Amino acid sequence: MDAKRIVILDTTLRDGMQGQDISYTLDDKVQIARTMDAFGIDYIEGGFPLSNRKEAEFFQRIAKEGLRHSRVAAFGSTRRPGGKAASDPHVTALLNAETPTVVVVGKSWKAHVREVLQTTEDEDLRMIADTVATLKKAGREVIFDLEHFFDGWKDDSAFCLQVLETATDAGADCLVLCDTNGGTLPSEVARIMAQLPAARLAQLGAHFHNDTGNAVANSITAVEGGALHVQGTINGWGERCGNANLCVLVPNLCLKMGLAASCAPNLRHLTSLSRFVSEKANIIPDKRQPYVGEAAFSHKAGQHADVIAKAPRLMEHVDGALVGNERRILLSELAGKSSIVPKLARYGDFDKSSKEVARLLDELKRLEQEGYEYEAAEASFDLVIRKTLGLHRPLLELSNYHLESYQAGTTPSKTVGRIFVRVDGTLLMGAAVGVGPVDTLNMALRDALLPIYPFLLKIKLTDYRVRVLNPEQATAAKVRVFITTSDGEESWDTVGVSENVIEASWQALVDGMEYYYNNRVAGGADGAGT
Ligand SMILES: [Zn+2]
Repeated sequence: MDAKRIVILDTTLRDGMQGQDISYTLDDKVQIARTMDAFGIDYIEGGFPLSNRKEAEFFQRIAKEGLRHSRVAAFGSTRRPGGKAASDPHVTALLNAETPTVVVVGKSWKAHVREVLQTTEDEDLRMIADTVATLKKAGREVIFDLEHFFDGWKDDSAFCLQVLETATDAGADCLVLCDTNGGTLPSEVARIMAQLPAARLAQLGAHFHNDTGNAVANSITAVEGGALHVQGTINGWGERCGNANLCVLVPNLCLKMGLAASCAPNLRHLTSLSRFVSEKANIIPDKRQPYVGEAAFSHKAGQHADVIAKAPRLMEHVDGALVGNERRILLSELAGKSSIVPKLARYGDFDKSSKEVARLLDELKRLEQEGYEYEAAEASFDLVIRKTLGLHRPLLELSNYHLESYQAGTTPSKTVGRIFVRVDGTLLMGAAVGVGPVDTLNMALRDALLPIYPFLLKIKLTDYRVRVLNPEQATAAKVRVFITTSDGEESWDTVGVSENVIEASWQALVDGMEYYYNNRVAGGADGAGT
């Protein structure tokens, strides 16, 4: 028998937009929808066409994109009390979005009918029947979201059942049980779903919020209870604590429960989908996110790394490659020779007892003593290896730089800088004016090097973080600077340490350029990334 197929509705572009600090431009929304289509998401809920022009425009733009797999759904509510669906602005806006599918939300919690809508239960049922029937008559596929279903069921299950039956009779294609306030526990989901007369109802779906940290667990429980449609967002971002995280839920359904989903064949693109959406939202990806986080398949202690090298299945719950993630062996003072050997592998076959491994371990210990940390700066570590093995090709030799910051009156401060560097014996000069010293140094260095290294045009600094190492030393404390550099396709991290923040930044900045130069431009060992 074929595996049970679960339909996935992504609401990143609707519920996801309600999350704190989240906003996407119209172009972002179109690009995200295209990426989700390529991934194989069944439904993309595109927004609320009544709410603003940007949302309504999205549906016009996306109609022209010709998505291959995903059906786009507009979102809206049932008609207002006392009116007619055919002339209601909510329903009209939904129809005007001209999507093949619509998601309509209606009330199923009696207290909300009375106190929020200020109408009767009977009128609520008429609103649902009228709206669903009107949309069906217009040829739409109708997904009916029962707002506050679980709270409503606990309050008055007979009324909730009437709502489910009314929507079924009116022709709804799917009934989505929503935990709008996010307070339901998995045991309650199981108990309530077991009480539903599923055979008499349209297909069931589920929509969970993460206010008790159970959105994914609840979605799994709902699927176990008979739901064939689940809703969530990429990275779990959404209102308050977010929605069910599809980056966790989908691999759980496919890899752990043996269920089918249209996106299952593309699961290896899940990590890049998660990071793409993070980048569009301008939010640093959560390292510790299951499956797709940078730490999900990272191993630190020396002994773990030893086992990993021999039998990965003993230390990992699934192979990270299945979701497009990769195993990382982290370097630290705890790290033994076993962690170093795989790092050296791309440069040759080095035995644990070889002198290269011993030399690298000594160098690593010395640098870590000084405050360098390579767990989040693999590109700098690659350069340490190259230097130890004599394979490093320096990009430049610094002659001197000079920076001067000034501020006059209330105008914002500026930094002027110039730099002299040598490349193959030739002295080059660069100059720049920037907002701060690091920015200016970066620009002046590029100014000097660009005629010789045009590849610098392709890479840019995308993140800059400073950490104070020994704060008790006050202003004389050492700082550790991390820089992320990207060529638009991949990014790499470098580190610098000094008592002077500009010197620490300089080290990380040059490492960022040298890493690219050594691995991508000047013919790296094998061209592999980290
Ligand atoms: Zn929601």
